[in-house]
Amino acid sequence: MLLFHIASRSLVLRLPDAVRASPPASRPLGMVRYNSDMAKFRQVFSKAKRIAIITGAGVSAESGIPTFRGPGGLWRKWKAQDLATPEAFSRNSSRVWEFYHHRRELTLNSSPNAAHYAIAECEARLSKQGRSVVVITQNIDELHHRAGSKRVLEIHGNLFRTRCISCGSVKANHKRPICPSLLGKGAPDPETSDAQIVASDLPRCEKSDCRGLLRPDVIWFGETLDSNVLTQVEKELDMCDLCLVVGTSSIVYPAAMFGPQVASRRVPVAEFNTNTTPNTAYFTHHIQGPCGTTLPLALARHESEVI
Ligand SMILES: [Zn+2]
Repeated sequence: MLLFHIASRSLVLRLPDAVRASPPASRPLGMVRYNSDMAKFRQVFSKAKRIAIITGAGVSAESGIPTFRGPGGLWRKWKAQDLATPEAFSRNSSRVWEFYHHRRELTLNSSPNAAHYAIAECEARLSKQGRSVVVITQNIDELHHRAGSKRVLEIHGNLFRTRCISCGSVKANHKRPICPSLLGKGAPDPETSDAQIVASDLPRCEKSDCRGLLRPDVIWFGETLDSNVLTQVEKELDMCDLCLVVGTSSIVYPAAMFGPQVASRRVPVAEFNTNTTPNTAYFTHHIQGPCGTTLPLALARHESEVI
């Protein structure tokens, strides 16, 4: 328990080191403990009062939003972890803004899918019964909000907020394009040349006495997660009596430890994913399949619900 808290409170966004490639010796993969029966999950769901739903890139992928992380997931010739860093931004802020402009446009052209809607509908329905649902998401695309979810903790920030690197001002921003110089830029194919936009033409702070360079208000690799958000996440993880881990490969830290942290206090944790993950062996349930198919069934009104 303590170990999990320390791990999750290390707060820095990172991909795994070699140690995390396999589950702990006490839970070898060959020793399957989880239940893959949807009816069994539904029994547990019907009794839960506080549900925490951790979501990852798999949920967005079903809306056509790529992670730019796995094989074939390059933008031009780079992976997200080559561009989503403070070092990349200080070296070439034009290129990084092109990348984020592309991601903003992709997202604005996408829609929430059945998994997003199932979660939002579940939150609205259960709140009338005095039960709660909170979404803890690694996704930065706002699709949970667009589907109607109200309680959403965005641990990796938001693609549609900017932060001034001079004065620190954080603002919502849904402009398309975010600035005139990015119009038509950001094409992902590897032959595209960098636009090499001068810094003065990149998104700038609107405060007349600042005009500092803006950056996306997202957490980059190597950066510290927002401690206020993390505190809320810890509170929800400590209080929930059911946890769902949805569409996440459980490889990006510290979020990868959230499900195991809940499981360590003997609370049921159900993983919904297209495959097993390095964390599956920790969990009580594993429902395999696209979450746009499995979640609407899993979270539908239970016969025991009277409202
Ligand atoms: Zn500013």
